[in-house]
Amino acid sequence: PSRHVGFDSLPIQIEKKLLKRGFQFNLMVIGRSGLGKSTLINTLFASNLMQSSARTSPEQPLPQTMEIEPKSCLIEENNVRLELTCIDTPGFGDVLDNEKCWDPIIKYIKDQHSTYLRSELTAKRPLFTPDTRVHACLYFIQPTGKGLRSLDILVLRKLCEVVNVIPVIGKADALTSDEKRALKTRIREELNFHRLRCYPYDLETHDEDDRKSNALIRDMLPFAVVGSTKEYTVDGTTFLGRKTRWGTLNIEDPEHSEFIYLRDFLTRTHLQDLIDTTSQIHYETFRCRQLNALRQ
Ligand code: GDP
Ligand code: MG
Repeated sequence: PSRHVGFDSLPIQIEKKLLKRGFQFNLMVIGRSGLGKSTLINTLFASNLMQSSARTSPEQPLPQTMEIEPKSCLIEENNVRLELTCIDTPGFGDVLDNEKCWDPIIKYIKDQHSTYLRSELTAKRPLFTPDTRVHACLYFIQPTGKGLRSLDILVLRKLCEVVNVIPVIGKADALTSDEKRALKTRIREELNFHRLRCYPYDLETHDEDDRKSNALIRDMLPFAVVGSTKEYTVDGTTFLGRKTRWGTLNIEDPEHSEFIYLRDFLTRTHLQDLIDTTSQIHYETFRCRQLNALRQ
């Protein structure tokens, strides 16, 4: 029998190194204002990172997000440090002139690629390039039976080319189970019809298992979510919930909200893949274009 050399500790050595450095994840939210974007971010990461537009008094106007605002916080779980940056965007589609309302958003995404590329191209590269590239973009769709609006299709077409897009239906408590099922199917069909390629993608590097899990996710899109940061206690159990016509809804109850599916997908199963895909697909495409343009 051959003697044990010890390189089987490599994964542990890598883990140690990664834990020391920590992780960076940048998440963007996009959609019409009032669809529950800020609330969902706060719910997802159990934080109060985003200011939600809940009115403090009825006379006050809703405090809306007016510009692209990245906000960061450091969260830690069992020695794993995650620097989370959420990029809230002004709700679009509210104004009459929707022309080019997505331009600043696309520009923001490309600017981060550009900053990263510039850092890589400097003669004296930093030991570790800070990553501000947008790793995932939650695209909020209205909870009405109408499906995607033409503006959604226009914006999604631009977005899918530069970032991992994850479509979600906001404020899904406005829908009955049947309505929810019908709307999800309709949106999936529309995404396919318009060839809008959302995340996750099947890549050459994926094995059979990855493909299976991606197919399952794709059948679930868009996630119909309900967000809340308010706790309720019913029959002795305390949960994050929302009062509806039918009673108090637990946002972690998959019967009513696909919040936990989205959270598991974002944080427990696909976080690293979102980061890798951003770097290997979206950033790579950007980098190639820029370098080719330079050569001409
Ligand atoms: P944003 O403009 O998209 O960021 O929306 P906000 O998160 O600020 O939410 C706007 C309002 O809708 C606030 O009063 C929230 O309490 C409420 N809200 C947020 N999420 C939900 C939800 O899932 N269901 C319902 N019914 N209301 C929600
Ligand atoms: Mg907001």
